[in-house]
Amino acid sequence: MKKIVSLLLVCFVLFSLASCYHTPDDDTKEQVRSRDISTVYFNTYSMLSTYGDTSDDNIEKYLEISEEVLSYYHKLFDIYYEYAGVNNIRTINKNAGKSPVKVDEEMIDFLEYCKQIYTITNGKTNVMLGSVLKIWHECREIAEEDFGYLSPEDLPTVEELAQAQEHTSIDLLVIDRENMTVYISDPEASLDVGAVAKGYTVDILYERIKALGASSVVLNIGGSIRAIGARPNGSGWVVGITNPHRTPEKPFALRLRFQNTALVTSGDYERYFVCGEQKYHHIIDPLTGQPATYFSSVSILTEESGLADALSTALFCMSYEDGLALISSLREEGKAIEVLWIDREGNHKMTDALRASVVNA
Ligand code: ADP
Ligand code: MG
Repeated sequence: MKKIVSLLLVCFVLFSLASCYHTPDDDTKEQVRSRDISTVYFNTYSMLSTYGDTSDDNIEKYLEISEEVLSYYHKLFDIYYEYAGVNNIRTINKNAGKSPVKVDEEMIDFLEYCKQIYTITNGKTNVMLGSVLKIWHECREIAEEDFGYLSPEDLPTVEELAQAQEHTSIDLLVIDRENMTVYISDPEASLDVGAVAKGYTVDILYERIKALGASSVVLNIGGSIRAIGARPNGSGWVVGITNPHRTPEKPFALRLRFQNTALVTSGDYERYFVCGEQKYHHIIDPLTGQPATYFSSVSILTEESGLADALSTALFCMSYEDGLALISSLREEGKAIEVLWIDREGNHKMTDALRASVVNA
């Protein structure tokens, strides 16, 4: 619910501010048409917006494709349920230590991508962290019964977490492209693709919609945002980055103008429980097995939302200096990446081009 509210706020600012920036001349030709996409997919709020003189026929077509892509990938990436006609992440987890699972090529492509992400992020975004994430997920579920509070005796012990960490090696994930199978070679290990799934799916959707000739569209799947082109007047859209310490007066930490790029934020305010004085959120540092404590949120602007999603989780789990070193090395490979770090005291640090895109109130 919290998450839906924050996404609604993001959407609100995206469109309300965009319209604030309309000049009278724009108004005649720049019309925003936004459509909600079912919250069934990825259990989150999603929307598609088109601008300019795109006809309603096109929007209907984009929506149809969104439904098709999201319903397929939602099923493929589900870790809790299986569906008729498709072997998904849940099927692979169920067969851990037992047998390889026959999968679609889309699954092979995705899990190979996840292995690349593991390498790029020095193991900080690790889809094989399932055994550890499961423990924290169970704590969140117990806490939900008690208005988000957990008794200290229900916290996982250091030993329990260390034991689970023994089953998180990325090498336990065996991908066989030739035979189209995936196998987890340790019965105690499991996949959790929550850190990458939405961003990756947005990239697939982006390609499909762009191929139809779309030139001014914003896709937003549960906060994984990617823009096709710019506004028809050539300027960027304005989006609010949630203030992790938000108050009714200040719901956004800042506002950014962006175009032709993806924007993803990972934050400690979305899913968490409280135990004692401490907040335990859902992004886990693979090194410690505990919720990462460096920041309250990290936002990434880069071309592809798959990479933005993976990096927002990874940079959330490392110091500012390590994050900077990681993006410097990626920039050397030619990737444009901008970052906003908000620490737990509310201080902001950001890369230069991101600073240049901040919209002053
Ligand atoms: P969200 O999905 O809430 O927008 P993230 O992209 O940061 O936020 O993903 C968090 C989700 O990813 C968690 O709910 C959990 O399922 C999983 N996860 C948490 N920590 C890690 C990690 N270090 N590596 C891989 N997956 C993680
Ligand atoms: Mg992520």
